[in-house]
Amino acid sequence: MISFDEAFRIVLENTGQTAAEDIALGDCLGRVLAADVASDMDMPPHDLSAMDGFACRQADLDAGLTEIETIPAGYMPQKAVAGGRCSRIMTGAVVPKGADIVVMFEHTEARDGLVYVVKKSGRTNIRRKAEDARAGDMVLAAGTVLRPVEIAVLASVGCDPATVYAMPRVGVVATGDELIEPRQKPTAAKIRNSNSYQLCAQIQRAGCIPKYFGIAKDTPEAIDVILAAAIEQCDVVIFSGGVSVGDYDFVPQILSDNGIDIKFAKVKIKPGRPTVFGTKGNKYFFGLPGNPVSTFVLFEVLVRPFLVKLMGADYRPARIRGRLAKDVIKRKADRSEFRPVKLEADGAVNFFAYHGSAHIHAYTHANGIVQIPAGVGKLNAGSDVEVTLI
Ligand code: AMP
Ligand code: MG
Repeated sequence: MISFDEAFRIVLENTGQTAAEDIALGDCLGRVLAADVASDMDMPPHDLSAMDGFACRQADLDAGLTEIETIPAGYMPQKAVAGGRCSRIMTGAVVPKGADIVVMFEHTEARDGLVYVVKKSGRTNIRRKAEDARAGDMVLAAGTVLRPVEIAVLASVGCDPATVYAMPRVGVVATGDELIEPRQKPTAAKIRNSNSYQLCAQIQRAGCIPKYFGIAKDTPEAIDVILAAAIEQCDVVIFSGGVSVGDYDFVPQILSDNGIDIKFAKVKIKPGRPTVFGTKGNKYFFGLPGNPVSTFVLFEVLVRPFLVKLMGADYRPARIRGRLAKDVIKRKADRSEFRPVKLEADGAVNFFAYHGSAHIHAYTHANGIVQIPAGVGKLNAGSDVEVTLI
């Protein structure tokens, strides 16, 4: 059995990248740039006013100024500003020749048809040509995840459409004769399939396209048929359940029978020991244990980093350091363990008592996961822990 770190390394080492595609900027949120982007112009393109005010010369601030024109944003100035003159100028308008300062309206007074400066702020209120970027400067690097601010930068340099990596299509297959769908009322011995809906939501949140393939019965034939459909339509297939050592756990065997190279089938972690990862060309396969908490946690700590890499980015989860509120005891220290926690506003980290990996309800109160490494049996109150936000 391999360690979690080893499993993580094996997964990322075997992860390729989806193809690049051109996507309209309006649909690029959360996508990953597949090429560097350079500015196609100086930004700003001219000296621009940062205020509504009067453009004039710093040398002239002590005497009354004669107004010579009004410069709205979006129009070139028609007149140069010479000694004793000023132009009314709006925010974002081009600063006229001769002017080296914009005095905001609030710092001026009109008297006898002239403009007087009544307060000197020491600021020029001019955004200099090319102070943000020069034409040809790289403004965003390949591999950047596009958040709203990056979308703004792409728009400002005319990068529409943008070249980004394709969103992985991720198939989800539930296994288990006990499963029925959420809208059905369970009869004897049945439970509702929650994992598939959880996984589809996690996949969507990771910026990928989920595709649900239904519930496979616990027979080799049923798993084989669904696998065939999922391989054809998806880049990644995630099974939940059927990966352990029970009499009806056929997933690893069927993956092997289909020529999928199983890289590992057991990991020293809690929850989720029987976790499977395999590849076949540029297709990827995960088998996650069926308990809802195991499925949830394994997706967050192993599948999500994989998907981020598949989309061409580095995995940088939101992690915050906090202080343990109470001692935490781990009954067995041999496995790396992931536990649900609540990180409070003051930085205190509270662990939840939860009764095992079927108890997904406990996770509704958690806002993070803490990993207790293998070999560590106790964490002391007051010590620093790293919380991965979920
Ligand atoms: P398995 O990994 O197939 O041995 O399943 C472990 C536990 O998780 C069993 O109690 C299953 O009933 C439960 N389980 C498996 N698949 C699901 C699912 N899709 N939704 C909810 N619970 C599940
Ligand atoms: Mg099962």
